[in-house]
Amino acid sequence: MRKHFPLIQKHPELAYLDNAATTQKPQVVIDALVHYYTQLNANIHRSPHRLGAEATAAYEGARELVRDFIGAAKMEEIVFTKGATEAVNLVAQSFVRPRLQAGDNVVISIMEHHANFVPWQVLCAEKGAELRIIPVDEAGELDLSQLDNLLDERTKMLAVVHISNTLGTINPIKNIIQKAHEKEIPILIDAAQSVAHYALDVQELDCDFLVFSGHKVYAPTGIGVLYAKENILENMKPYQYGGDMILSVTLEGTTFNRLPYRFEAGTPPIAEAIGLGKALEFLRGVGQEAIQAHIHQLLVHATAELSKIEGLRIVGQAAEKSGILSFTLDHAHPHDIATLLDQSHIAIRAGHHCTQPLMERFGISGTARASFAMYNTMEEVDRLVDAVLGVVKVFS
Ligand code: PMP
Repeated sequence: MRKHFPLIQKHPELAYLDNAATTQKPQVVIDALVHYYTQLNANIHRSPHRLGAEATAAYEGARELVRDFIGAAKMEEIVFTKGATEAVNLVAQSFVRPRLQAGDNVVISIMEHHANFVPWQVLCAEKGAELRIIPVDEAGELDLSQLDNLLDERTKMLAVVHISNTLGTINPIKNIIQKAHEKEIPILIDAAQSVAHYALDVQELDCDFLVFSGHKVYAPTGIGVLYAKENILENMKPYQYGGDMILSVTLEGTTFNRLPYRFEAGTPPIAEAIGLGKALEFLRGVGQEAIQAHIHQLLVHATAELSKIEGLRIVGQAAEKSGILSFTLDHAHPHDIATLLDQSHIAIRAGHHCTQPLMERFGISGTARASFAMYNTMEEVDRLVDAVLGVVKVFS
């Protein structure tokens, strides 16, 4: 796999283990960007010339690739955003805000990334609604026994992460979606950490909304996806207004464009969307199951070896985990661990990982986090373990 990634090829000394933050990009994705800017560059949907038509076809082709990749029924259900964050905000502003009243509630979990936490917290505070939180146990698994009590007739949204970017926990979303729908509560799945390595089918899952970011699935930054069921999108008001999202504008008022363009105001990230389409084709070619199996092996090996280190605590020991491994070390601050590892050309993340309420739950300020992708190797895991042992020596 490594030969497909120019940055990895250029830096053979580097063990890039910060893939939950962002993944490296394969040559085919970089080529797609270069091809767009050297061969196709034009604005879409409105330029009447040949280039405009070609750029539009490429952009809409990318939407079709996304639709197919996540198993959506219609391209109308795929809204391009700049990332998972913007997609959650869109749902909060366009879907929940008009429906949320004082005394209502929104349910999320304690392991949400701030992107799926703060929009709900702010909205609830503004409306006098309650933000209810599904707790986690010591292993980092959601305590779903609480869910039935948390969801009631005043719940206007349940928004839950599929895979925790801090703990690596894979949540049983199918079961959670069913529980929400038993009470006719709409549900949003934050799939930012799962789309790259787990085949998702939104129709089979039957979720109402699903969000993810391109840059975590080997695609460019600045592009993301909101999937929403067509009948839901049809009844949502846009929250950003401008060009491309309108059918007609007069002094009296504006008629909005059809789906999904109504939710894509302004010139979108065209090249990035095309790059996302390429990345998904690339992922399909490699096979998500194969990637998942590889990453699982890395996780199992890393967990076994790191667990042997005295004073090392793995934060997140769920039975079902993806390739994300958070840990703390006695006497060493996570930032010191990351800085020392960087001296051995090992790139990991340190801090709260945009999950501060979760850190508070575990009584820590942050963790060091290694996260794996398709191009990582067992040898890199061994280097990680050796380097952590080196850190232990420094601080003992
Ligand atoms: N949710 C999860 C689980 C994430 O890991 C991230 C990114 N770390 C986000 C949402 C937000 O993604 P972005 O910053 O690309 O919008």
